[in-house]
Formats: sequence, structure tokens, C-alpha cells
Amino acid sequence: MSNLKDLKKIIAKKNPLWISFVILFSGILITLLFSNYVRLEDESRTQREFEQVCNEIKSKIITHIGIQTEFLISGSSLFEASNEVTREEWSSFNKFSTTNVKFLGVQALGFCTIIKKSEVQKHLASIQKGFPNYKIFPAQDRAIYTSIIYVEPFNQTNAVAFGYDMFLEPVRRKAMQNARDYDRPTISDKVTLLVENKNKPQAGIVIYVPVYKAIPLNTIESRRKAITGWIFCTFRMDDLMKSIWKTSYMIDKKNIFLKIYDNGIISQKSLLFDSQNNNLKEDQQTKTRSIPVFFNDKKWTLVFSLPAESGFSFSTKVLIIFIGGLIISLLLSALFYSLLITKKRARIIATHLSSDLLHKNKEYEKINKMLKKNYKKLNSSKEKLDSINKELEKAKVKAEESDQLKSAFLANMSHEIRTPMNGIMGFTELLKEANISLEEHKNYIEIIEKSGTRLLNIINDIVDVSKIEAGLMQVSLSAVNIDHQIQYIESFFRPEAQDKNIQIIIQKNAIPYPTIINTDSEKLYAILINLVKNAIKYTVQGTIELGYEIKSDYIKFFVKDTGIGISVDRQIAIFERFIQADFNDKMARQGAGLGLAIAKAYVELLGGKIWVESQPDKGSTFYFTIANGTKVVNNYVAENNVPLYKKFCEVKNLKILVAEDDSISRMLILKVLEEYGSQILIAQTGLEAVEICRKNPDLDLILMDIQMPIMNGYEATREIKKFNTKAIILAQTAFALEGDEAKTLEAGCHGYISKPIKKEELSNLLQFFFCK
Ligand code: ADP
Repeated sequence: MSNLKDLKKIIAKKNPLWISFVILFSGILITLLFSNYVRLEDESRTQREFEQVCNEIKSKIITHIGIQTEFLISGSSLFEASNEVTREEWSSFNKFSTTNVKFLGVQALGFCTIIKKSEVQKHLASIQKGFPNYKIFPAQDRAIYTSIIYVEPFNQTNAVAFGYDMFLEPVRRKAMQNARDYDRPTISDKVTLLVENKNKPQAGIVIYVPVYKAIPLNTIESRRKAITGWIFCTFRMDDLMKSIWKTSYMIDKKNIFLKIYDNGIISQKSLLFDSQNNNLKEDQQTKTRSIPVFFNDKKWTLVFSLPAESGFSFSTKVLIIFIGGLIISLLLSALFYSLLITKKRARIIATHLSSDLLHKNKEYEKINKMLKKNYKKLNSSKEKLDSINKELEKAKVKAEESDQLKSAFLANMSHEIRTPMNGIMGFTELLKEANISLEEHKNYIEIIEKSGTRLLNIINDIVDVSKIEAGLMQVSLSAVNIDHQIQYIESFFRPEAQDKNIQIIIQKNAIPYPTIINTDSEKLYAILINLVKNAIKYTVQGTIELGYEIKSDYIKFFVKDTGIGISVDRQIAIFERFIQADFNDKMARQGAGLGLAIAKAYVELLGGKIWVESQPDKGSTFYFTIANGTKVVNNYVAENNVPLYKKFCEVKNLKILVAEDDSISRMLILKVLEEYGSQILIAQTGLEAVEICRKNPDLDLILMDIQMPIMNGYEATREIKKFNTKAIILAQTAFALEGDEAKTLEAGCHGYISKPIKKEELSNLLQFFFCK
């Protein structure tokens, strides 16, 4: 449950997107700050470099001009020191300069001499000796002439200036006068050199150094008198600056522009040099720096300009840093976001897993419990199985035993049936012989009768067991004098006991009057007979005691003998049907093993129990109890049973029908009926019986066999009852089953008699129905 709550909480928790945004914004902020710092750093470095470049250019210009001026001063000294400097001398003096024109940026180095008007012709003549075309120009009349007589390098370009009177040109003159008057190197204002291309002239300057005669030069006047000429050099400003530019290693790297203005005047007119030739766009923002440069009284203004990067433009480096920072910030925030999402998912998965685990755990616990239960069940099942196994083992032993018993039983039954049958058959055979005495004849007949009784007893026992098993054995209650019964049994068995030299003793009860109880007389009789019969059978010598005790609500009987006894392990089994205590014992084979089973069933029907106390070779005592005043189970038979006492009358001259399919039974019955009938008719099937009945409506008695071919006794009775209600129908039943008796009465019979028909029983019945 708690896990489910946790899971809901985790899922409900919003994605921590804001943290990623914070990271992104922080990253961007840091990137911006850093980029700005780098930009400022760049700018300040650029500024420093810019200033450095400006200073470097400035000093280079000063150095260049200075070197040149020094050279001019040397040239002036050369002229002042010697009377005459020849063209060759001047040329070799200028050798360094002329061979390094490009390096120094010098256009020309020359000497310009002063010529008085009077000496012009003489001068022209002397020069024209070497250079016939030489002339002083411009051709204009004046008091003083000046002329460039030496110019180096004396090439075709510079030769243009040969003979040129610079003094006539005002800008140059001003510089020349300044140099003359103050005895100092003087740089002219901006001029256009003669050598210049007329279409696209460069700005030029000339530096003048005066050459004086060797006289004192203290005053301007004295200098004006002493002046003989000027050493000069001309510069084309672009060339000059190019030579300087070339030697500056930084200028190329930086996008720095330079303009040089003459005399501190910033104007196109005074522009001496423009590194961009005015290509710089007007609207372009520039960073400028003006530096004044002084050469004596000459002032140049150097205007350096550095195009400023536009307001928000960044250097590549800053841009890289900015973009890089931005990308890193984005990646970081994305990474963090994905980490958080992953963490959340991991937590969800973990929570799922832990809830799964919890669930599984519970299931395992359940399974465990079930297993434990099952284990217990298994254990108990195992125990049960063990006990079943033991039972089976017992059953197996029993089965083996009962197999033996079965064989023993069959042998027994065979013996039990064959023995009397042998007697009957053997002595019947002997009876056929003619020469037997009357006594022998009587003796044989007795033996045959005994054997028949014995056979009938066995059959009765089997029938009784069948009845008991089928639940058809019923109790027929009546008042029974048990003293009489015991007495009768003693007298019944006395001859048999005496034959074996055994004494039967009745243990008399102390009560002075006879004991009469409400019970089933036949069954009590059968129980006692069985027990006493066994006692005689299993006793070799000694006594048999017989008696009973009256208890509060039951009576306890006992039959005690001094016989062979029964081992303890067989004392319960002997009450089972077909079981004998020792089936190998020869004596035991004298019975079918049914007597005690029947006795037990009867005892139980009478509401009691039976048991034995015995020791082998010492004797046995059989006890059984019966309830005193046992409830009547079914009194139908009792009510309808034929009473044995009747008023005596002679039954004669009856018209009788005997329905019997078996010829021997028929013969017997005919013999028994002889004395009662005047006319006896015979039917062999039920159908025949019905037919005979139709033809003889005056029949008095019908003895109806139940089991007949074509139509059985029940059906035949029903049919006869339809047209003859007068004739008495008695059913003959072979097995005398309780159900059969009821059925016969139900079918319409007036009574029944069991086979084999006994004369006495039949007589009783006939007296009952015909002695009215
Ligand atoms: P049986 O027809 O064999 O006598 P019973 O059911 O009457 O059959 O008796 C079962 C067995 O019990 C006998 O086979 C015998 O082994 C034993 N038995 C019965 N009564 C006695 C007795 N009084 N003394 C010794 N053994 C007896």
C-alpha cells in the first residue's frame, strides 16, 4: 500500500523542468558575462595594440625623417667643407641613399645652388659643357636664380628636375627661406613634385638644409648673405609611408588606417597621406587617435583610425565562446533534464519493482504457507497412506488367508454335503438288497434320515446366512420360557454328549419360578443349539456347562466347555461367516464355519452381543446377551403364523391339486397327502394348475409350488383367485425366505409350508384350515 502511495507521489511530482531552465539560464548568463569579459579584454588589447602601432608608426616617421635630415646635414657639411663638390663626388656621397631609395622612401637627393643674375650665362655655359640641353626653368627674369644642379639618382624621372628653380614656387620658397634664415633643416608644406604623374599626383614634401659660405652666421641677415644653396631631398609621401609601413610588423595584422595632415590642419587640402586613399566609408564607426609630430617648427598631425566593430558585433573568438557556451548550456540543461527524468523513471521503476517484489513476497509467503499446509496434509496423507498400506498389508494377509479359507470352505462344504449324501446314497443302495433283516432295514432308514437332517441343516444354515446378508431376517417375538428351552437343549444333546463321554451340566438359576421373556424363540433356540453343538464338537472330554444370569435389562447366557480352546488372535474372526479358528485342524473341518456367524447375527437382532473367553487346550466360554423385552421388529408373521395348538379333528376326503414341477418332491407330497385326500390332481406348471382349477371348481386344497416353469406360483395363485376364492391355497417354499412368505400371502395364498414338507407341520396346517 505504502509503495502504491509512493508511486502516486512520484508520478504526481512534476518534472523538474525548472531546474533545467535555471541551468540553461545560468549557463547563458555565464556565457554572456564571459563573452563580454573576453570582448572587453579583446577591446582593451586591441586598444593597447592600436596605441602601440600608432606610437611605432609615429616614431618610425620621426626616425625616417630624422635619418634623412641627418644625411642632408652631412651633405650640407660636405659642400661647406670643400670649395667645390663635383657631380661625381655628390653621386658617390649619395650612393647609400640612391641604392636604398625604396628602403628609405626617398624620391631624390639633390643640391640646388644660388646664381646671381649676372652669373647666369657663365653658369649655363659651364653646365652645358656636360649637359647641352641644360637650362634654368621656369624662364623668368629675376635678380636671384636658383637651380637644381645635382640630383640623385640622376635617372630619367629625376632628370626632369635638373635646372628647376624651386625658389620661384611659393611653398618651396617658404621652406627654403625658413631653412636659410634659421639655419635648420626645414620640411616644406605639401607640394606636388615635378616628377609627379599629372593625372594622379602624390603629395610630396621637400626637406631643405642650407649650405652657407664659411662666415659667421649669427643673424638672419648674415645667413641670408652667407647662403650659397640648399641640400634637399624630396619625398613622395606614399612612397615614404610605404617604406615605413613595410617595416611595421603589426600594421598588417590590424586594420589600422592612417592619415597625415600638414600643419595640424585637418582638411583634404592639407592631407599628405591616406593609407586607404579615402576608401574608408563615411558612416563607418572608427576609433581614431590623433598624434602631432614636430620637426623643428613643422607640425604634422597623424590621424590613426581603427574601424570599430559594430555596436553588437563580436569578434570570432567571442562569437565562438558565446555559441560554445550556449551549446554547452543547452547540452548541460538537456543532460540534467534527462538525468532527472531518468532518475524519476528509475524511481518509478524501482517503486514498481519494489511493489512487485512486495507482491511476489506476499505470494511467496502464501505459497509457503500453502506448502507448509500441503506439507502437513502430505504428512498426514503419508501417515494415512502408511496406515492404508498397513491395512492393505493386513487385507493382503487376510485375502491370502481368505483364499486359504475359501479353499478350506470348499473342501469343507464338499465334505459336509458329501458325507450325508454318501450315507443316503450308500444305505439306500443297501436297502435294495433282498436279504436284509428287518432290524437292519430300520437301522439303514434311520441313518438315511439322520444324513438327510444333517444335509438339511447345512442348507438351512446357508439360507439363514443369505437372509441375514440380504437384511431379510426378521424377529418374531413371543413369550419364551428360557428354562424350558435350556432343558430341551440339554435333553436333545445328551445322547450325543454321552457318546463322547461328556457331561452337560445346567447351571440352575436361583429364582424359584421359570424365566419367561419376550423374545424370538426360534432364534434363541438356534443360538443355543449352535453353541452347545460346537462345545460338544470341540471338546474331547470333560464337561459342558450351560446357564444364564438375569441382569437389569438383559439376560446373559453362557456355554462353557473344557475343549480345545481358541487362540486369542482368532477369537474375533470365528464370528465371521465361513471362518474357522484353525482351518488346518481336522476337527474344525466338521463344520461350514457358519454357526457362530448366524448366532452373532441373531444375538444382534435380539439386541445383544456375543463374545468368547478362551485359552487353547483349556476350554472356551461363549457368552451372549439378549435384551429382556426386545421390541417387536415385525409382528406380521407372528400374527399370521400358524399357531401350533389347535383343536384336533380328522381331515379327510379333500379334493386336492398339487402344483409341483419336480417329480421327487411331487412323489413325497403325494405320499404325505394320501391320508387327507379322496382325489389328488397334479399340475406341472402354473398354467396347468390354473387350467385344472377352472375345470374343477370344487377343489378344497391347492398346494402351490412357487418356482414352476411357464407360470410361477404367485401368478397362478393370482389367476386362480380371480375365479375361485373358496379353495385353500398353501404355498410350498423351498427356501422359506421371509420375503417369499409375504409375497405368497400377498398373491392370495392362505398360508405356506417350507420344503421338505413334514407330516406334522402339514397336519397342523390342515387342521387349522379345515377343522372349523
Ligand atoms: P463350524 O461349523 O466350523 O463349527 P462355527 O461358526 O460354528 O463353524 O465355528 C467357527 C469355528 O470356531 C470353528 O470352526 C472352530 O474352529 C471354532 N469354535 C467354535 N466353537 C468352539 C469351541 N467350543 N471350542 C473351540 N473352538 C470352537
